[in-house]
Amino acid sequence: MNCPRDGSVLAQAHVLGIELDKCHACDGLWCDRGELERLRDAKLTEVEEAIERKYGSPKPLPGEVAGHMRCPRCGDARLLSYRYTYVSPVTVDRCERCHGIWLDKGELSAIVGEKKALDQAVEPGRLAAFLRAMGRLVSGDK
Ligand SMILES: [Zn+2]
Ligand SMILES: [Zn+2]
Repeated sequence: MNCPRDGSVLAQAHVLGIELDKCHACDGLWCDRGELERLRDAKLTEVEEAIERKYGSPKPLPGEVAGHMRCPRCGDARLLSYRYTYVSPVTVDRCERCHGIWLDKGELSAIVGEKKALDQAVEPGRLAAFLRAMGRLVSGDK
């Protein structure tokens, strides 16, 4: 497969047991359907360390391709901008056909970091109290 952004050949990358396709030129990552969800549940530092240890530091991006990118797996299918969000939005490029997701440099960190921030913001005790309060509202009790 080739990078939808710059046309470089994508290399197979094994990150935390998940097989991804990585562009060495722009540091982008291709995730097949469902792979992003698995990565998202991993800790940010583990993902970053695994990538850095295996592939080294990223190189600067020479320039962006104008217009819609094409899916590296489907070929002619377009990648459409797609908001992937927990609290603050991260825009990723998603294939309209196979639902694979292209992550530009930094977008994976943003998505995983967002999840981590949310986990830390909601303490178990507070979440339980919130759910009990919601339950009371729903059932009508005081
Ligand atoms: Zn690239
Ligand atoms: Zn596709």
